[in-house]
Amino acid sequence: MTDTCGCPPEAGSAVCELPAQGFQRAARAANACPECGKTGKPVQGQTVKALLSVSLREMRDADYLFCRTRTCPIVYFSPDGEHTFTVEQVRERVYQKEPGAEEVFVCYCFRHTVGDIRAASTETRAAILDDINTGINAGQCACDLRNPQGSCCLGNVRGLAAAQQLERLAVGVAR
Ligand SMILES: [Zn+2]
Repeated sequence: MTDTCGCPPEAGSAVCELPAQGFQRAARAANACPECGKTGKPVQGQTVKALLSVSLREMRDADYLFCRTRTCPIVYFSPDGEHTFTVEQVRERVYQKEPGAEEVFVCYCFRHTVGDIRAASTETRAAILDDINTGINAGQCACDLRNPQGSCCLGNVRGLAAAQQLERLAVGVAR
């Protein structure tokens, strides 16, 4: 008796891992995350190198992309989708994956967490944005080496602040 793929049962594996003859890979959009299917954002090689917690020997010679999908465990993947790094293999917790976690950084260079932004008064929040802008203007940021997305955090910080502002307004109206 043989499996449907033709492997003898004594091969030691109940499920044959070899693709069946004539197997066709489903068409995949270019630069789409192999897990969630969303288009990734290109990141520089140095970002992946700086953020990985595993041996850099595991990197491929590829232009990696960053997956922003909250529910997807993949952080970086190669354009062909063959090679991936998950949240477990990255040194920092990733804001896009845990946007509601208080202790996760939203600004990795100047160490502002989601909780800092959420708890901040309007004035404090403005002061945090000022601090970030001042740091950027002073050339003190290193988003390509510290932020898993490999680019400036300001959009995320502003988005989070705006969402928080709306939430407070909504609560105010409800009262
Ligand atoms: Zn994904």
